[in-house]
Amino acid sequence: MNAPRTREDWLAMAGGLSIRSQAFIDGRYVDAASGRTFDCVSPIDGRVLAKVAEGGSEDIDRAVAAARRSFEAGAWANAKPTHRKKVLLKFAQLIEKHGDELALLESLDMGKPVTDARQVDVAATIRCVSWTGEALDKVYGEIAATGPDELGLVTREPLGVVGAIVPWNFPMLMAAWKFAPALATGNSIVLKPSEKSPLSAIRLAELAMEAGIPAGVFNVVPGFGKEAGEPLALHMDVDGLVFTGSTAVGKRLLQCAGLSNMKRAYMECGGKSPNLVFADAPDLDKAAEAAASGIFYNQGEVCTAASRLLVERAIQEEFVARVVEAGRKMQPRHPLDPGAPMGAMVDETQTARVLGYIEKGVAEGAKLVLGGGRAEVVTGGCYIEPTVFDGVAHEHTISREEIFGPVLSVIGFDTEEQALRMANDTEYGLAAGVWTRDIGRAHRVARKLRAGSVWVNYWDGGDMTAPFGGYKQSGNGRDKSLHAFDKYTEVKATWINLAE
Ligand code: NAD
Repeated sequence: MNAPRTREDWLAMAGGLSIRSQAFIDGRYVDAASGRTFDCVSPIDGRVLAKVAEGGSEDIDRAVAAARRSFEAGAWANAKPTHRKKVLLKFAQLIEKHGDELALLESLDMGKPVTDARQVDVAATIRCVSWTGEALDKVYGEIAATGPDELGLVTREPLGVVGAIVPWNFPMLMAAWKFAPALATGNSIVLKPSEKSPLSAIRLAELAMEAGIPAGVFNVVPGFGKEAGEPLALHMDVDGLVFTGSTAVGKRLLQCAGLSNMKRAYMECGGKSPNLVFADAPDLDKAAEAAASGIFYNQGEVCTAASRLLVERAIQEEFVARVVEAGRKMQPRHPLDPGAPMGAMVDETQTARVLGYIEKGVAEGAKLVLGGGRAEVVTGGCYIEPTVFDGVAHEHTISREEIFGPVLSVIGFDTEEQALRMANDTEYGLAAGVWTRDIGRAHRVARKLRAGSVWVNYWDGGDMTAPFGGYKQSGNGRDKSLHAFDKYTEVKATWINLAE
């Protein structure tokens, strides 16, 4: 069929989908060793999309063994970089070819608007895989500074077997941020997608094989955190563990690495990102629109969501009115409606959690100025209105904890110093924004913000060319750019005696 354009087109395509739902181990789809499955429920309308293989420790063992065998065999690990590049570029092309299908799977599985899934998730996944493929044969080793009697070579080698555990908010893209650099540097990988959104990862494994990645190099084991994630994190034959998800689970995984074989462990975790708007922001309308889309995009289920809006008190009333206006236009719609500004929350649990925070905001005395309730979009689905609280105190729960939903907390400030103190007084440090016309202040504030990404006069800039990751309890290590390769390689020094 032609590219789908309407909700009906997408629904017709959904009707014809044959959804892959097994684990992918050693180059083929298999049931879980236990034979167990779990229901994959669409939050769009509560329908069961598929019964997915429920992986457990036996499946993790099988996948790790396959990854180890493939790594030792060396067809991928020892392939020429130009070969790995060719295969990754083919993989990116296949993702493009199946882009509509992958976008649809993502939207059905976790509720995001299909337009965003196609234009952002799929497009960024393609860009991630192709950029990484293009980069991999342009990375050189080093020669140490020595006298003429010796030669010191500094080279990078793949870790071996990498375990990757990823979340549900950008299922495919978060997986790609891990598997692309892992594969580029010659590792074999066992990927555990979130139990809330396993479908795109399961499908991608097949496309990876079709692109020419050898059997056993790319394995996917769907399942739950405790039953499939922990055995992977504790596995004695996994050399590296990479994770994106909550800070609580990230901390547990660091323990798992220490309790097992001290595998390299890199965590990309939560955030409570401050967005600082000074009275001299260059364009208050643009700033207000960015403040709204920064929290409502992807239903607020974004690690870098602009969840704390710190506004200079001189413009607070006027600015909040503009944000509310912009937010009002972002009501959730059917996720398969082209251009829907928001879709469904990932599931009932997350919906209840977010509504609980809204109740808490009201109870603690913040002023609800937009939304605050469930939205009735599709019967049986999980939808929440874009919600704004004004008059939030820095100490309020909604200003301190990651809500991971469409809930904005507005906090007033009087001075730059006060704004910075509140912005940095958080356990997180993933992202931050500053809006000002004053270039001196822009640099000063950007430097003082304790966050891995800082945006000046916009929100959520960036692409594959720059690293992404967190300070403090937002994590360690960096995804994207050449910095990502650090997580998937050991650095070796080889000394050669030239005097003999
Ligand atoms: P989560 O931590 O609940 O789950 C993430 C993954 O970990 C899932 O695959 C889950 O099955 C697995 N898991 C859960 N418990 C586990 C355990 N005990 N052992 C091993 N694996 C376990 O997070 P989530 O709800 O899926 O995602 C939301 C979180 O992800 C938010 O905190 C968000 O900020 C964060 N996130 C961070 C980034 C980033 O780049 N920093 C990007 C996206 C999302």
